[in-house]
Amino acid sequence: MTISSDLFARAQKLIPGGVNSPVRAFRSVGGTPFFTKKAEGATLTTADDQELIDFVCTWGPAIHGHNNPAIREAISEALDKGTSFGTPNPYEVEMAELIIELVPSVEKVRMVNSGTEATMTAIRLARGYTKRNKIIKFAGCYHGHVDSLLIAAGSGALTLGKPDSAGIPESLAEETIVLPFNDLSKVEEAFAKYGDDIAGIILEPYPANIGLIFPKDGYLEGLRALCTKYGAVLIFDEVMTGFRVSAGGVQQHVGIQPDITTLGKIIGGGLPVGALGGKAEIMDHLAPLGPVYQAGTLSGNPLAMAAGITALKLLRQGDTYERLDRMGKQISGAIIDTAKDLGLPLQVPQVGSMFCVYFSEKTVETLDDAIATDTERFNKYFHSALEKGVYLPPSKYEANFISTTHEQAAIDKATEILCETLREL
Ligand SMILES: *Cc1c(COP(=O)(O)O)cnc(C)c1O
Repeated sequence: MTISSDLFARAQKLIPGGVNSPVRAFRSVGGTPFFTKKAEGATLTTADDQELIDFVCTWGPAIHGHNNPAIREAISEALDKGTSFGTPNPYEVEMAELIIELVPSVEKVRMVNSGTEATMTAIRLARGYTKRNKIIKFAGCYHGHVDSLLIAAGSGALTLGKPDSAGIPESLAEETIVLPFNDLSKVEEAFAKYGDDIAGIILEPYPANIGLIFPKDGYLEGLRALCTKYGAVLIFDEVMTGFRVSAGGVQQHVGIQPDITTLGKIIGGGLPVGALGGKAEIMDHLAPLGPVYQAGTLSGNPLAMAAGITALKLLRQGDTYERLDRMGKQISGAIIDTAKDLGLPLQVPQVGSMFCVYFSEKTVETLDDAIATDTERFNKYFHSALEKGVYLPPSKYEANFISTTHEQAAIDKATEILCETLREL
């Protein structure tokens, strides 16, 4: 009996599934999750004192590594002044200035407490602003656990969505149209059919919750043009990609301006934060200026703002993104080369410090492609890497993340371990 398995046994009696977020339960890869008792830089220390090189990075936020000294100091300084005021505080203004400076399309921003809250508010705002009801989303894009967005595709490509979770009314699901990613003609058809009732399109511009998928050439441009043509709101959900792919997210990387952007993860520096921002004309429809209601007791919390501000400022230092990209290319390149030598069918999409290993012959472009990748092989790869001291995301549908605190030695070691793992498959 390990300390982790003992903790998990206790947790399962007290917490549904033993976890406070489902993927942590290792259901997808099998086995028992380990508990982490502390984390520093790129290393997790488990309850049983195993040290792991971490490529989950708390599912994206920890771009500056765990327990970053500068972020810790900022929180500690804020802590001396109080944990929550219930009035506006100076940190909120600095945070807004930073986001608006970094994210090209954002003119005004509202802080919330999670990515889910951000997307929930973004679609309410799109509906309130356009006075229309329907939202287009794409199969495989994850936007948090918002009722209107936990929707699966209906039976035909252009039929209305159906609930993807118990507890969501069919009547609500019908207001969401779910289309396959990377097929612009489907979006054109949806606009032709429902154009005057489509409030907006929400998407992860680089879907990263089914591994990592890139849009085909012209796809994002096409979505932008359709939204403009039909007066619908284009929402980029950059909760994952914001400040990760570049300081200004995918929108800066590809030079496309969405109308609304949702942010989270990195923006909280490890504390619970989300945000939505966009054109002032749209954002001003939020309460108290406009008729779209939104509020939060702890929104703009001084500790969370202090952590987030420091995280964003650290990103502007030196050659952060070049360095992250070099590490991403080293690992993904080595994995690809090893797979080639072995004749192992494998795809490793990578952008900067995000990458994903798909056991697949063909490039993954849609949710169906991701589902078709080899689950059994992935699960073996995951467990074998874990045994050797590398913690990968515990599901074939998750992206790997690298932080600025992954030292060259850690990257070299992890690369070697992952290649060895592949040879043993
Ligand atoms: C993680 C994530 C969310 C949800 O954020 P939470 O903070 O977990 O609520 C929404 N959208 C995307 C793209 C995400 O990756």
